[in-house]
Amino acid sequence: MGQPIALDKFQKFFLEDVEEAYPEIERTEILPDALHRRAAEAHCYRLTLPNEYGGHEMQLMEFLRYLEAAAAGPGIGRMLVHTTNGVWRPLHQFGNAEQKAIISKIPNGDAVVAFCLTEQTGGTGRDLKSRGVRDGDNWLISGEKHLITFADRATHFILVVATDDRGAEDSLTAFFIPRDTPGFEIDTSQHTMGLHGTGHAFLRYKNMVVPDSQRLGKVGQGLEVALSFLDYSRVSLSACMVGMAQRALDEAVAFSKRRVTFGQPISTRQAMQGHIATMHADIEAGRHLVEHAARLCQDGEDFTPQAATAKLFCLNMVGRVTDLSLRVHGGWGYTKAAPIERIYRDARGFWFEEGTAEIQQLVVARYVMSKN
Ligand SMILES: Cc1cc2nc3c(=O)[nH]c(=O)nc-3n(C[C@H](O)[C@H](O)[C@H](O)COP(=O)(O)OP(=O)(O)OC[C@H]3O[C@@H](n4cnc5c(N)ncnc54)[C@H](O)[C@@H]3O)c2cc1C
Repeated sequence: MGQPIALDKFQKFFLEDVEEAYPEIERTEILPDALHRRAAEAHCYRLTLPNEYGGHEMQLMEFLRYLEAAAAGPGIGRMLVHTTNGVWRPLHQFGNAEQKAIISKIPNGDAVVAFCLTEQTGGTGRDLKSRGVRDGDNWLISGEKHLITFADRATHFILVVATDDRGAEDSLTAFFIPRDTPGFEIDTSQHTMGLHGTGHAFLRYKNMVVPDSQRLGKVGQGLEVALSFLDYSRVSLSACMVGMAQRALDEAVAFSKRRVTFGQPISTRQAMQGHIATMHADIEAGRHLVEHAARLCQDGEDFTPQAATAKLFCLNMVGRVTDLSLRVHGGWGYTKAAPIERIYRDARGFWFEEGTAEIQQLVVARYVMSKN
């Protein structure tokens, strides 16, 4: 598997290849196969995967830099890196030999795994309405999911459903389902505000027959499977927020230097400098929170509250920074010609992915209360 790609070369892929392809992606909502293959060649899908699966086994502290680099480009780029380098974890931890073998197909893009928890009919967690009922050596699974990232091209789906009475400790179970499972409907008509080309979909299934051998983990271990990589993923996502906010700041600085009003670049105005300084301070604070959580994770310490704290801060931070960057750009920033127009929309996705601000607040408040 060799050495990981150099960081500058990695970033070039997002700022040049992905940027160039993006207008077409935004128009069609499709990630071209050729770009998916080039992403694999740029090591996007192998950075953190263990060596045994053909990955670079990159530690989180180093991976943060790569996530920031990816997030400087269109949102689809950081989505590819963030999701792929997280979703192998439950397969590695809970999978049987056959399920683990799929991980080896991720680095070159031959396998794409989607993680499926969210429902329109149920609340995320023990309130899921998708239901699996045992039928001999099989399960009959019925229900729906939505907002499932890269469902358009996923070869496999980790599906978490209720398999016991609602609310019971052992209510949920995870399954690892191949795309071509009979009765598994993938409706890719769910388009999002930003992050175009990320293939979000509705999933529907009624009495879908799933062999017990496709169960991921034990019966009743579904919540554990779902939560097993959530803290890691929140840090990874927060690094993406830092990277996208940094790009918004860079765009604001560049624009302020070239936009001249009343004979002076607006970068010379104290009001604009105030915005630039505020954005920089916000981003630096977020970056340090992310690094703190990542360091604890890498050292094998408990980092659940720090991951939620980083995410809570960074999702508000990226909102503030993209707001201010748009203001610095004036009316031009509100047009499709300005990169900040896209960045502004892409940034809003962070408010929901892997738990809303309100859910992070619950985790953080629980931690603070327990200490006082
Ligand atoms: C870009 C993007 C990608 C995504 N990718 C995936 C994916 O790949 N797989 C997947 O499974 N999901 C995915 N999601 C879904 C995402 O995880 C959910 O949108 C998110 O967890 C919030 O759940 P919800 O949409 O059902 O919101 P709701 O639960 O409907 O929440 C609505 C509002 O009520 C609040 N709320 C809800 N319950 C409580 C409570 N108990 N206490 C306090 N406040 C509460 C929320 O904070 C929010 O403000 C994605 C979402 C987005 C936007």
